[in-house]
Parts: sequence; C-alpha cells; structure tokens
Amino acid sequence: MRKDYPELCKAALLYESLLPLLRDADLPVTPVLLTREQAMRKLQSGLPLLYDVQLGVDLMAASGLMIRLARVFEEAGVGEGSSFSARSIRLSVEKERLDVGALLAQAVSEKRGAMTSTALGLDLDSGLLWALTEYVLRPAFREWRRQLTPLAEDILWNRGECFVCGASAILAELRDNNLVRFLRCGRCGADWQFSRLQCPYCGNEDHRTLAYLHTEGECEKYRVEVCEKCKGYIKVITTFSPTPPELLQVEDLATLRFDFIAQGRGYSRKTVIPAG
Ligand SMILES: [Zn+2]
Ligand SMILES: [Zn+2]
Repeated sequence: MRKDYPELCKAALLYESLLPLLRDADLPVTPVLLTREQAMRKLQSGLPLLYDVQLGVDLMAASGLMIRLARVFEEAGVGEGSSFSARSIRLSVEKERLDVGALLAQAVSEKRGAMTSTALGLDLDSGLLWALTEYVLRPAFREWRRQLTPLAEDILWNRGECFVCGASAILAELRDNNLVRFLRCGRCGADWQFSRLQCPYCGNEDHRTLAYLHTEGECEKYRVEVCEKCKGYIKVITTFSPTPPELLQVEDLATLRFDFIAQGRGYSRKTVIPAG
C-alpha cells in the first residue's frame, strides 16, 4: 500500500504499529451473560445483542493500552500537531487526570459531547481522544463478539448496523462467487448476511435507484454501491473468505480513493439509526 499510494504512507505506517498492538492486546472483559432466548428476542426486535447491557473491562489494562496507543500516535505524527496532541493525552492518562472508565462509557454510549467537554477542560484534542478511546474498546468488542456470535446463529438480522454492537457497517463483502453479500462491523469484527439488492442504510430495494460506481480496472475486486434515495454509499470487496477483523481497517484505508470518488459525487457514509 505504501508503494502504490504514497499519499497514504504515513497512515499505513501508523497502522503497522497500531494493528498488531490491538490484535495482541490483553484486555480482560466481563463476560456478557445472555441466553439464546434473550438473544433471539433482542434480534427479533431489531436490537443488537449488546443493547442495554452493562459492559465491564479491566480499567488498569484499558489505561495501559491507551498509553501504548497514544505513544504509537506520538511516534507516527500523522497530521499537523498530532504528536503533541497524543503526548498530552498520554501524560493525562499516566498522571490520572483523565478518567479512562468515564471515557470508555462515553464512547460506548456515543456521548461525544461529554467527551468533548472533558477534552476541552484539559486542553486536549477531542477528536484524537475519541479515536484513542474507540481503539481501546476494539479488543473488548471483539471478545464480546466471540462470546455472543454463537447465540445469534440462524437468527435473521437484515439490518445495516451490527447485530452484536450496533455500529454501522464499515464495508460489505461479496462471497461465494458474488452470490452472497455480507456486511462487516469495523468495531467488533462481526459479519452478517444482508440482501444483495438493498441499501443497508435506508432499506431501499428499488433497483432503479440502486447503482454502483466503477473505477477503471478495479471493478473486479472493489466497487462502491450507492443509493439514490438516501445518497448513502458502501464500499464492496469481492473476496473468497471473510477479511480478518483486524484487517478491516486496512481494507478501509486501502480503498480510500473510493471514498473520494463517492463523496465527490455527493454520496456519504451514513450511520444507521439503531432501533430502540
Ligand atoms: Zn459490531
Ligand atoms: Zn439508501
């Protein structure tokens, strides 16, 4: 990727350090106790499995991970002033000026405003703080996904957001000779089958308002599907086997040019409003 897209070189280097750290992170989590019946009831009501569940992670381990992640950003220096911003966040965690437990709770419940206030109060970069907190949660969400996926087996879930954690799909995969489409969650790594001819955001099934954007020479492996009704788009990868969860972000970065193409034509990545 560094060779093919020099403009993404710094970001690719960042991921080279970041992703192994996340893959190997030892972040003990409290198991989520859910019966098959409870899981079925939730999914049938359109609610993700982790909806309204008390989530617990080891805070010492989470703080340690946040410090290591901040150090990676510090060394990578992607973007102006980001080394300094990452260093300030790392020092705030080390000196216990930041309440990591509160940050994790804010990220889980999408309370961006609360985290921005915390960041402003300590003169920290709120965007980076949000990103780091989301990263810290990744290993935890992946563990919950591993625990919970068997409960959801054979239960229908035809929605654009993840059936485990409720995040919007990061991309779609066409598997089995393009016959089956799966959506993938960038947060917990889950995958779920989704109708091939339907917009994952607004549910539009009218083929006259669903299309895909081609780019020369690459339509075999990658393409972008767009919906004229909600002006949303999703990137689609053709693959034989599911992309490993830790590499979903690499695929997302490697296909950044498709985001530019789609956004340049007025489409955007939408967030699905979860039920409940
Ligand atoms: Zn998920
Ligand atoms: Zn749509």
